[in-house]
Amino acid sequence: MHELPVTERILNIVLKHAERNRVSQIVSITLTVGELSELEDEWIQHYFDYLSKDTIAAGAKLKIERTPIVIRCNACGRSESVSKAQLGEVVCPQCGASADFTLVSGREYYIKEMEAQ
Ligand SMILES: [Zn+2]
Repeated sequence: MHELPVTERILNIVLKHAERNRVSQIVSITLTVGELSELEDEWIQHYFDYLSKDTIAAGAKLKIERTPIVIRCNACGRSESVSKAQLGEVVCPQCGASADFTLVSGREYYIKEMEAQ
């Protein structure tokens, strides 16, 4: 359960940004979250509502977009997008290697956009 610290960081960034831009109310926030990060959408919203209740972000709706998992074959360098279920048994379509992969993306999260008034 690591949604709470993550949500706290996101809220802090959003509030700082809002302050710089003299925003009076934040309406919605779009987050990009990697398929592999174990952040559950409903918990992020739940913690966000809780943490933001006395701020200008209170009531903001979070939109969460999932980005695919991308791995790179260390033998030939080919990048491939895979599903979570496929991850355990990946075989490189180019060279046939099956064990030596680097995770390129899938665990990241960031704020993509923010709607304000
Ligand atoms: Zn390969």
